[in-house]
Amino acid sequence: MDTAEIRRRFLNHFSERGHTVVPSASLVAQDPTLLLVNAGMVPFKPYFVGDLTPPWSRATSVQKCVRTVDIDNVGRTARHASFFQMCGNFSFGDYFKAEAIPFAFELITEGYGFRPDDLWATVYLDDDEAEEIWRTLLPPSRIQRRGKEDNFWSMGVPGPCGPCSEIYFDRGPEYGRDGGPEADENRYLEIWNLVFMQYARGEGSEYGYEIVGDLPARNIDTGMGLERMATLLQGVENLYEIDISRPVLDAAGRLTGARYGTDPAADVRLRVVADHTRTAAMLISDGVSPSNEGRGYVLRRMLRRAVRDARLLGAREPVMAELFTEVRQAMGPIYPELVDQAEAITAVAVAEEAAFLETLRTGTTLFDTAATQARSTGSAQLSGESAFRLHDTYGFPIDLTIDMAADAGLTVDEAGFRRLMERQRQTAKADRASRRIGNLDLSAFRPILATAGPTAFTGYSELARESG
Ligand code: ATP
Ligand code: MG
Ligand code: MG
Ligand code: MG
Repeated sequence: MDTAEIRRRFLNHFSERGHTVVPSASLVAQDPTLLLVNAGMVPFKPYFVGDLTPPWSRATSVQKCVRTVDIDNVGRTARHASFFQMCGNFSFGDYFKAEAIPFAFELITEGYGFRPDDLWATVYLDDDEAEEIWRTLLPPSRIQRRGKEDNFWSMGVPGPCGPCSEIYFDRGPEYGRDGGPEADENRYLEIWNLVFMQYARGEGSEYGYEIVGDLPARNIDTGMGLERMATLLQGVENLYEIDISRPVLDAAGRLTGARYGTDPAADVRLRVVADHTRTAAMLISDGVSPSNEGRGYVLRRMLRRAVRDARLLGAREPVMAELFTEVRQAMGPIYPELVDQAEAITAVAVAEEAAFLETLRTGTTLFDTAATQARSTGSAQLSGESAFRLHDTYGFPIDLTIDMAADAGLTVDEAGFRRLMERQRQTAKADRASRRIGNLDLSAFRPILATAGPTAFTGYSELARESG
C-alpha cells in the first residue's frame, strides 16, 4: 500500500466519522514556545487551551513535522526521521477515550488489515478507564502500563497535557526481545499515540512543570506516524526505504558511489543524507533560510551534515541539485509548495552547499594539522585553541569540528573553546564601547587580540621608569 493510499484511508476514516479535513500548517510554528511544528496538535493548541473557539468540534489532518530531538537517531533506528508526517484526529470537547480508542483500532485492523494478534497497547500508570476500554479489544497480557516518560504528553509551558495510550506493532522475535513495548521499542514499533488532553500545565515544581488545573474541555489529540505505517505495510526494514524515501536514498547512493545495503556504516550515512536533504527541502519550501540561529540554524546544520556525509561516502561533485530533484518528485504530489518554488528552493541549497564545500576545503588542512599535532603529543583531544581557530578563521561550527574529531578518534576541548569564544565576545563588547567613545575602529585588531589575548598597557610606568 503506497503512502498516498495510507494517507487517503486515514482521512476518509475520520471524515466518515464527522471530522473536518484540515490541511497541514507550515513547519514554521506560530507558537512562541516552539521553533518548528513537531506534532499534529501544534496548530490546534489555541483550541485546546481555550484561547480560541474551534470552528469544528472534530478535525483530522496530516501535519508536516520536524523533530530536532530525534536527529541523533536518524539513520540509526528504523523509526526516526527528522521530517515526518503525523496523521491525527482531534476532538475539541466532543468525544473522549471511549470513542478515540475504537476509532484507531478499527482503522488499524479493518482499514489497514493488521491482525489484532500483532498489536499491543500501553496506558498511563493510573489510567484504569483507558485500560478498561482496551480490554474489550485486546487480551490483558498485551496491555501495559507505563510512566510519565512515555505515557504522558504535554506541549509547552503553559500548555495542554494529559495521559496517553499508545499502539504498537510486534515485528517479531527477529527484531528483539519478548516482553512488549516496555521491554523493546525496536521490536515493538510504536505507530500511534492517543492523547487524552484534559489538563493545563503551568510553571513550577521541581520537574519544571506541574498540572495547574483542568482544560476548559476534555479533548482528544492523536498522532499516527505515516512513514511508520508505510514501513509496516510495505514490508520494508525502516522508514527510509518506503516509497516516498527510497528514491532519495538510491540517488544518494548513485551520487556518492556507495551502494545501499552493503556496508552498515555507509548505510547510516546514506540514510542521513536522504533524511536531511528532505527535511531541508521541506523547511526551505516553508520559507526558512540558512542562518546562524533558530530555525535557520537547524536548516544549515541539516544541509551541512548532508553535504559532509555525501563527501565521506565518496561524492566528489556537489549533490544537492540532484537530491532536491528526487525529493521534489517524491513529495511534490502532496506538497505543491515544493513544485511551485522548485528553482528558488534548490538555489538555496546549492548556494549553501557551495559555501560549505569552500569552508571544508580551506579548513580541512588546518584541521588535519591540528589533529596530527594532538596525536603527536599523545593527546586524544583537539585543543580549544584549534577549535577556536577553525571557527574564527574558517567558519567551522563547533559541532562540525566535534564530528570531524570523532571521526579521527579525538575529542575536543569544548570548555577551552567556549572560554576563547567568551573572551572574544568580551573583547568585541569592549571594542564597541571604545568605538562609541573615541570613534576608533579597532575591529582589525580583534583577531590578534583573540588569539594573543589582552595585553596590559604598561607604557606609563615602564616609560616613566626608563626616563627616570
Ligand atoms: P518514539 O518513542 O518512537 O520516539 P514518540 O513517542 O516520541 O515515538 P509521539 O510523540 O508519541 O512519538 O508521536 C506520535 C507518533 O508520531 C508516533 O507514534 C510515531 O508514529 C510518529 N513519530 C514520532 N517521532 C517520529 C519520528 N522521528 N519519525 C517518524 N515518525 C515519528
Ligand atoms: Mg520520540
Ligand atoms: Mg514513544
Ligand atoms: Mg509516543
